[in-house]
Amino acid sequence: MKGFTIAVDGFSSTGKSTLAKAIARELGYKYVDSGAMYRAVALYGIENGLIRSDSEVDVQGIVDALEFIKIEFQYNVNSGESEIYLNGKEVEKDLRSMEVNSVVSIVSSISQVRKAMVKDQQRMGSEGSVVMDGRDIGTVVFPNAELKLYMTADPDIRTERRYAELRSKGTVVDREEVKENLLKRDKQDQERLDSPLLKADDAIELDNSNLNEKEQLIWVLEIIAKRKEKALG
Ligand code: C5P
Repeated sequence: MKGFTIAVDGFSSTGKSTLAKAIARELGYKYVDSGAMYRAVALYGIENGLIRSDSEVDVQGIVDALEFIKIEFQYNVNSGESEIYLNGKEVEKDLRSMEVNSVVSIVSSISQVRKAMVKDQQRMGSEGSVVMDGRDIGTVVFPNAELKLYMTADPDIRTERRYAELRSKGTVVDREEVKENLLKRDKQDQERLDSPLLKADDAIELDNSNLNEKEQLIWVLEIIAKRKEKALG
């Protein structure tokens, strides 16, 4: 039997990728960070002068550049994590800068960008046994996923988590700036016309404001085990 397709959607900094990676590790599934793909397009735009600020985005230039943007994931045996490559260069860290944070939701609202990323995501997940996190995985990319999670958490808790993460990587940021960026991205992601962030009808909501990583993993593994049992009849 083909392994499950698991979609993990939700708001920024709700710990989607931490949970998705843990599920993939536990089940031996492939993990795909779809947000990193939109971030890679944004990074390409910044590096190639197509994006100067959130109000100076050369949309046509980005659309024209799509054929030159090659995004790949490679498994790093040493860290045990999959890393993203943009045109042959490993860019995992560059994607998490505040500069990319502040323009990525504009880039991800461009329909042609979404079309290209979704096609790639569907190809990567075509074999099943995959956990993918993002904003539209359960609604658009894999509407037939066997399990869909929709993650939320208190904005102040999310701010603290993202702030601590950025600080631990040596990024100097202001807490208020982090919160503003989170809320702005949530709004842009929810209000865009093409594939906005929304909960699929059959998604299970997980508010993890007061749950640690282990508790969330146990909770979700139990659901998966039940669904697998049911699928086997
Ligand atoms: O998940 P992450 O915060 O890295 O995603 C960065 C941005 O990429 C989101 O704020 C959103 O604008 C966009 N995104 C998207 N659809 C996805 C994943 C991410 O539009 N499936």
